[in-house]
Amino acid sequence: MILSPEKYMIPDKAMKPFIDEDEINDYLKKCHPTKEKVREIIQKSLGKNRLSLEDTAYLLNANEPEMIEEIKQGARELKKKIYGERIVLFAPLYVGNYCANNCAYCGFKASNKTVKRETLIDKDLIEEVEQLEDNGHKRLILVYGEHPKYDANFIAESVQTVYKVKKGMGEIRRVNINAAPFDIEGYKIIKDAGIGTYQVFQETYHNETFKKVHQSGKKRDYNWRLTALDRAQEALIDDVGIGVLFGLYKWRFEVMGLLRHVNHFEAVYNIGPHTISFPRIQNALDLDIDKSNLISDDDFTKLVAILRLAVPYTGMILTAREPANIRNEIMQFGVSQIDGGTNIQMKGYSKKEKEQQLDEEQFAINDDRSLEEVIQELLDQGFIPSFCTACYRLGRTGEHFMEFSIPGFIKRYCQPNAILTLSEYLEDYASPITKEKGYLLIDEKLKEMEEISLKKLLIEKLKLIKENERDLYF
Ligand code: SAM
Ligand code: SF4
Repeated sequence: MILSPEKYMIPDKAMKPFIDEDEINDYLKKCHPTKEKVREIIQKSLGKNRLSLEDTAYLLNANEPEMIEEIKQGARELKKKIYGERIVLFAPLYVGNYCANNCAYCGFKASNKTVKRETLIDKDLIEEVEQLEDNGHKRLILVYGEHPKYDANFIAESVQTVYKVKKGMGEIRRVNINAAPFDIEGYKIIKDAGIGTYQVFQETYHNETFKKVHQSGKKRDYNWRLTALDRAQEALIDDVGIGVLFGLYKWRFEVMGLLRHVNHFEAVYNIGPHTISFPRIQNALDLDIDKSNLISDDDFTKLVAILRLAVPYTGMILTAREPANIRNEIMQFGVSQIDGGTNIQMKGYSKKEKEQQLDEEQFAINDDRSLEEVIQELLDQGFIPSFCTACYRLGRTGEHFMEFSIPGFIKRYCQPNAILTLSEYLEDYASPITKEKGYLLIDEKLKEMEEISLKKLLIEKLKLIKENERDLYF
């Protein structure tokens, strides 16, 4: 959506920030909840309303175990009520780890001379994608350091290369991006390559901490980063993802920062961000941070439940930075996407030796299960693993928003599409035991379907998949 200049102007240079630290701190100081208040706010969210900064501050200040359990229960209920049982699967793919910045927390920072720097082009990139396709992936997020080598044309070319790789039954149907901020012209070039979501994490919304941890390079400019996704919107990339790297500054402040960012998008573009990510700092080569803000598992799971309630319409992404037990708890709060079979080493997917080595990756991961293991576990827990890309293919932008806002959308589209993409996976990549578990779940879900005509269509499509037709969706 292009806005008239007199209403709101996004110049191609840093603009006035929309994060007001005093505003956030005032709310955090004054909002201390009673049990009744917590319940009232949870009900507001269950009514599908986004929470205000004030409501969220009350939840963030809830410390009694009973209140925290009610908040978590609220998030579980919201998930059940709105999102159902699907979990979308993706994999990150590191395209290049040259970086001109010096982020204190990142193993790829320029000052780390022991890191082997590589850029995947042509053959190397194709090999990685082929391996990911062989594992069963259909959705990738391409990740890049911030470096003059990785300009908009380079990113667009790598996206186009990925889409062209087709191995056996495999293909990548949606490519998302996590890369540095660009100007509007740059974003237009990247948009034309057919990307899904463009993610830029602010890392910390606290200006002083931001300056402290971004020691040199372009990333030192807080406002340039804060307005990155405004420029993306101006380039008509309306599918954007925000995030905080938890552990750099106080977590309550950061949740409020995320929510303020959401408010900003709603106010200016009439659409919120597509996804929110909440990575937690992991060990990295030469990690150089003040450890006093590292966040405990208890606070982390609580904050994810609060985020779910605060922005009930947004997709939430959980990554393999977290160990399986934390992933399992948080998934109950309505996470919409997780990665599976993750490897964040350069050329990591096609490598034979899979051992983690800190001098070869940006940070350490805690969940190195294969995609098949993750899928088996999801099936055991009653989730439907999904590789669906239908909304993106049909031009229905904001897949997670559709699920939330259109009554019946999940039953009519998301669930059947999840079943179809799961069936493709079972036919093409699964071991006999996963296949058996997968089809048992599909049978169960078919039995539960109430709309007979839709069920009939779905059964017909499933039959076509068994006859080797692919890429069928509603
Ligand atoms: N270079 C781009 C940038 O900085 O925006 C690409 C992103 S970086 C490769 C992906 C994300 O990883 C960062 O935005 C940051 O939040 C996260 N990250 C960096 N170091 C990390 C660490 N030690 N532990 C966990 N996440 C980390
Ligand atoms: Fe570079 Fe991104 Fe790592 Fe910072 S977080 S050093 S910008 S790759």
